[in-house]
Amino acid sequence: MANKTLNIILSFLCVSMLTLSVGYSVYQANFVEELNDEWNAESQEQVSVALELAALERAFGYLGFIHHFKNYVLRRSDFYYVEATRSYWEANDALLNLLLADLSESNVNDIVVIQGTLNEYFRKLNEIYLELKLESATDVDKRVRVDDNQAREALIRLRSGLIPNLDQHYKSANVINESNNVWLYVSNSFPLLVIVLLAIAVSVITRQLFYRLRESNVIFNSSPDGCIYADIDGNILRANPAATTIFGYSMIELQSMKVEDLMDASLRSEHITYRKAFSETTRTRLMSDSSTEVKGLTKSGDTKPLSIAIASFEYENTYRNIAIIRDLSLHKKLEKESQYDLLTNLRNRRAMEQHLDLEVKRAKRYGRNMSVLLIDIDHFKELNDSEGHTAGDEGLVMTADHLRNVFRKVDHIGRWGGDEFLVICPELSAEDAICLADRVCMRFAKLPFPWRTPLTMSIGIASMSPTRVSGSLETLFDEADKALYAAKSQGRNRQQHFEELRRPKLAN
Ligand code: GH3
Ligand code: MG
Repeated sequence: MANKTLNIILSFLCVSMLTLSVGYSVYQANFVEELNDEWNAESQEQVSVALELAALERAFGYLGFIHHFKNYVLRRSDFYYVEATRSYWEANDALLNLLLADLSESNVNDIVVIQGTLNEYFRKLNEIYLELKLESATDVDKRVRVDDNQAREALIRLRSGLIPNLDQHYKSANVINESNNVWLYVSNSFPLLVIVLLAIAVSVITRQLFYRLRESNVIFNSSPDGCIYADIDGNILRANPAATTIFGYSMIELQSMKVEDLMDASLRSEHITYRKAFSETTRTRLMSDSSTEVKGLTKSGDTKPLSIAIASFEYENTYRNIAIIRDLSLHKKLEKESQYDLLTNLRNRRAMEQHLDLEVKRAKRYGRNMSVLLIDIDHFKELNDSEGHTAGDEGLVMTADHLRNVFRKVDHIGRWGGDEFLVICPELSAEDAICLADRVCMRFAKLPFPWRTPLTMSIGIASMSPTRVSGSLETLFDEADKALYAAKSQGRNRQQHFEELRRPKLAN
C-alpha cells in the first residue's frame, strides 16, 4: 500500500517536472525568437537612422550644401547654385526621414534646429540668385551670413546620441541574453534531473520488491511444515523443501504433479470433487478440523498420516490454494508408543483403562455381555530368581504371545503391570469367559518353556450382563482382582469368576 502511494507520488513528481521542463523550454525558445525579432527590428531602425544621419551630414556639411553655398557666394556660378540646391533637397530628405524615425524629443528638437538653419541658408542662396548676383563676393558674404553654430552643435548631439544607441542596444540585449542563458541552462538540466530521479525511484522500488520477494521465499522455504501452492485445477505451482521431505519427490518433480498424485488412491476421486467445490471461493480449513487428516502417498509408495490446512483465495481472476501439510508419522508413532508396553508390545495400563471405561459404558448402555479377565503368572519371582531377569522378560513376552493367540481379534489385551495382564472381552458372557479362561490356563501350562519349571497362570474374571445395570470400571476391576486373589488362594493355575464366589458353578 505504502509502495503504491510512493509510486503515485514519484510518477506525479516526474510528470510534473517533465511538463515544467518542456513548458519552460518552449517559453525559452519563444523568448529567444522574440528577442531576435526585436533586435533585428531595432537594429534595422538604428542602422537606417545612422544612415540618414550620415546622408544629412554629407548633404549639409562642408562637402555638401555648405561647400556649394560658399563656392556660389565666391564664384556666382550656376553650377554651384544647382549643386547647392540638390544638396539642400538631399539634406531635407534626410531630415524628413529622421523625423519619421522613432526618436527622442531632444533629437527631434535638434533636427528642427538643423532644418531651420538649412532653410535659412537655402533662403539666402535664392536671395543671392535673385537679387545679389552682380554684387561683389565680399558684400554678398556679409549680407548672407548665417549663424549655424546651433545647427553644428545639434548635429554633434545627434551623432553622439544616435550612433552609440546601437552599441547600447547590443549591450542591453547581451545582458538579457546572459541572464536568460542561466535559466536556459537550468531548464535544459531538468530532463537530466528527472531521469536521475526516475532512476533513483526505480532502483529504490526494485530493491524493495526484491527484498520482499526474497523474504517471502525465505519464509515459504523455511516453514517446518510442507507448503504446496496449487492452482484451481490442482496443478502444483510451488512446493517448499519440507514438502519434498514429506513426499520424497524433488521440487521439479512436484511442479509437474497434481495434488491428487500425493494422496492414497482411495481418496483421489473424492478429493477432486472436494477440491473443485472448495476452490470456488475464498475460505480456509484449519488443521484442527477433524476431517483434515488424510493418507498421503510418498514417491516410494508408502502411505503417511498427514494433517492438512488449506486456504483458497482469489488471484488474478482465478483461485489458488495453499496447503500446509504436517507429517503425523512421528506423532502417531509417539502416540502409539505412549499406549503400548515396550517389552510385550501389548497395550499398557493407561490404554487399557480407556478401553475398559469405554467397554463398560457400552455394555451398560446397550445391555450387552462383557467380561474382564485379570491374569497373573504364578510364582513368577522364582523364574527371575532361578533363571535371571532376562529369562523373566522372555517369560513375559511368551505370555503376551500366548494371550494374542488364544483371544479373539475383538478382545483388548494389555499388560496391567509386572506379571499381571488384563483382557477385555466385549460380548462375552460370564459362562463363556469361564470356559475361555480354562482353556487359556490349560494351554499356557502346556507351552514349551525352555526352563526346568513350566509357567502357569491364574485368572480372575468379572462380567457385565444385560441384567446388570450397575457397575463401573473400578467395581468391575475390583471384582476381577478379588476373583484372581481367590484363584491364587485355591492353588493357582486356574480361573475364578467373581460371581462364582457368591453363586458357585456358573458354567458346567
Ligand atoms: P504369585 O504367584 O503370588 O503371583 O507369585 P509371584 O512370584 O509371581 O509374585 P508377584 O506376582 O507379586 O511378583 C511379580 C514379580 O514380577 C516381581 C518382579 O520381580 C517381577 N517383575 C515385574 N516386572 C518385571 C519385568 O518387567 N521383568 C522381569 N523379569 N520381572 C518382572
Ligand atoms: Mg505373579
